Amino acid sequence: MRIFEEMESEVRGYIRSFPAVFDVARGSEMYDVHGNRYIDFFAGAGSLNYGHNNPAIRDALIEYLQRDGIVHGLDKATVAKQAFLTKFRDTILAPRNLEYKVQFTGPTGTNAVETALKLARMVKGRSNVIAFTNAYHGLSMGSLAVTGNSFYRDESYGVRANSAFVPFDGYLGSGFDSMAYLRRLLSDQSSGVDLPAAIIVETVQGEGGIHVARDAWLRQLADICHEFDILLIIDDIQMGNGRTGTFFSFERAGITPDMVTVSKSIGTGLPMSLLLMRPELDQWKPGEHTGTFRGNNLAFIAATKALSYWDTPDFAAGIADKGKLFEQGLTAIVEKYSQTQGRLRGVGMVWGIDFADPGLAGSISEECFKRGLIIETAGANGQVLKFLPALTISEELIAEGLTMIDAAIGAVLK
Ligand code: PMP
Repeated sequence: MRIFEEMESEVRGYIRSFPAVFDVARGSEMYDVHGNRYIDFFAGAGSLNYGHNNPAIRDALIEYLQRDGIVHGLDKATVAKQAFLTKFRDTILAPRNLEYKVQFTGPTGTNAVETALKLARMVKGRSNVIAFTNAYHGLSMGSLAVTGNSFYRDESYGVRANSAFVPFDGYLGSGFDSMAYLRRLLSDQSSGVDLPAAIIVETVQGEGGIHVARDAWLRQLADICHEFDILLIIDDIQMGNGRTGTFFSFERAGITPDMVTVSKSIGTGLPMSLLLMRPELDQWKPGEHTGTFRGNNLAFIAATKALSYWDTPDFAAGIADKGKLFEQGLTAIVEKYSQTQGRLRGVGMVWGIDFADPGLAGSISEECFKRGLIIETAGANGQVLKFLPALTISEELIAEGLTMIDAAIGAVLK
């Protein structure tokens, strides 16, 4: 590990939580240089929903490279991009009656968020954007302004936090009606809140600690946006690509956002981010918002292959079944260790146990790692143990991982 400490910036993060040098990985198992095996319940922070080195995806990439397929072509038309757009339209958008134009925004999720914020402001001619407490949308200047976590914000950055962070659903307890509060902010001139161009929201806060917005709350939010002529941006970077059980996380609420940010697992681990926008919002002038890496052709090949999982309803059914295994297993663990007062939250294949105690959550994560299980913490203070396995994980590995968590908590509490 010495070279990393010597050379890599102090900002390095996950390397600290998982101190091993990893070498190979298959599906939901990773191996370090000493051949130690780890079950992966983290899946690259949700960027490996189809698993590590998924054989079908890997083979498609090898075949493409062997025939000298174009790896980097700026944003020129390529066969790989054509195949992706066609597959995305036919397999994902059309069956859901969604009509979006696709903008390739760059390698990482933050690029999509920045693009959405910029476009919303341009289209509406207004600069304010409302976000939610505890939200995570990225750490670059624009996205940081809508990230509701003060840990990431130093005054010296010169980034003014957004003018209003509305409490996320349930964040202040069920007694607080955050939609009534939002309506009041928008309609009462004395609130000092300028009419926003957009409201940006996650349907489930991932980094924020697995807070699941209720369907009715999301519908109310969509109604308010409609009523006040505000664009609704769903940030589906972590919760999209099937994580919550459907391809888009907003499908369960039956809402149609004006814009959707997509990244992480869309590229199956290769860098790629997209902005989906209602066609009439595509008011960019040619070249107005561009850059060098606007669509990685290897990511297009991988993504096109991965989207085949959505050709039939079987994949979604599998997510629901495996999600239930997690829910049952984690419920049993929370009940067994009731003295920790852990609270389970989640949906589909994203779960979190909130221990209210960052020290306890951190110790459990550490103990899990020692036993060969990769599991991260989340939440404003890292107080939530977060479960984000690949959607392709086997039932056997789920069971094995759950047993390890049980043992790890037992060891920590001893
Ligand atoms: N939005 C959400 C909801 C995210 O979870 C993340 C990443 N955790 C981002 C934006 C930023 O994406 P990236 O780290 O790829 O820039």
